[in-house]
Amino acid sequence: MEWQPYRPCCHRFAGDAEVAFCPECGHPFLRCMAFAECGSLVGPTQACPVCVAPSLMIDAGAVVQSKTGERVSVPLILRNNSTGNRPIWVRQIVKLTGTVEEPVALTWEQIDPQTERHFTIDTPPMAEGGTHALRMLFVIASRYRGLEEAYAYAGGTTITVSGPDTQQVIQNINLAGAQFQTGGMVHTALNTKDRGSSAPTALADRAVLPMERAERYELERGIRGYPDKGLRVPRTVEFAFSGFRAAEVPPDGTTMAAGGRFTVGRNSRSPDPGANAAPNDICLRAYDARTGQVDEPATLAISRHHFDFAVVNDRLCVHARTTHGMELSGAPLASGTLVALKPGERLVPIPGRPDKLSIQVAFTSSIGSVDRITISRTPGMAS
Ligand SMILES: [Zn+2]
Ligand SMILES: [Zn+2]
Repeated sequence: MEWQPYRPCCHRFAGDAEVAFCPECGHPFLRCMAFAECGSLVGPTQACPVCVAPSLMIDAGAVVQSKTGERVSVPLILRNNSTGNRPIWVRQIVKLTGTVEEPVALTWEQIDPQTERHFTIDTPPMAEGGTHALRMLFVIASRYRGLEEAYAYAGGTTITVSGPDTQQVIQNINLAGAQFQTGGMVHTALNTKDRGSSAPTALADRAVLPMERAERYELERGIRGYPDKGLRVPRTVEFAFSGFRAAEVPPDGTTMAAGGRFTVGRNSRSPDPGANAAPNDICLRAYDARTGQVDEPATLAISRHHFDFAVVNDRLCVHARTTHGMELSGAPLASGTLVALKPGERLVPIPGRPDKLSIQVAFTSSIGSVDRITISRTPGMAS
């Protein structure tokens, strides 16, 4: 199904976390993982516009014209424009020179909302009348309760020295790098301080540089999605179930949209104000394969809330909740651990007992995007 942008009505009704669809236009709601703080809706693969709102600037005083052979240190500013009181974490800034990537050494990581951090990028020696492209990639993360979503952005500027006697320096802001999925060239005339024709020309005011999402870089570097398969799981992915009893799983075609995750464990799907106060989206029980009866000792080894499925960083992830242990492809998952689940991997809820219960996932995809995830359990039960 084609994703449509939210309408103004959607934002009016999204505040009630229980509401899954806009009562006015019927649009399904996808909420940011930090919805309790930012109150924002998100798209299937987009960053939350409230939580992740970086902006890049070139600082006043930046030398945009220099003598032949000189290196230039360009002072830059990264600002967190979040209006939702949400910090961002800058995991990496990379300077791109041709195809060479050079990490920029940073002494800071976090940028609080409505504040900024400064860093500098050194250019190679400036050739006379030459043009030096300054291209950068930023890996920026948002965190909430043990979850981290990271996104890559491309930004940059090209400093062109147009001549020793010219007061105006043309700055080409170039985003058209080969690594970027989209790009464009923006020409901005910047005001420069008149220091005479022989002195270096410096910017009088700070200037905003364009930044745009670098989705292809995210996928290639494994920041988001499954790089080896070139696949992304959108937050709107549909689920189907195999080997479960009908009462244990939601209907096929269900998405995580409303809650942003599926809770999984021994508790049933039905709310019960008594012993079963917290129902699960997916009920996990072990059965005797011969009789079809519940295998009580094995089932009691499954916690009431054992783990969650969640879509994080365009990957289907398992968020372990049990303190009794569980395993993914033979490796233990401690409570609180979040790991991406790949098709073919085997999730074992009861450590050492894949024979009692194993879970695997399969993806159905088209054009780099996963449309449907089938969650299968073995041994399978007739519904
Ligand atoms: Zn609406
Ligand atoms: Zn948010």
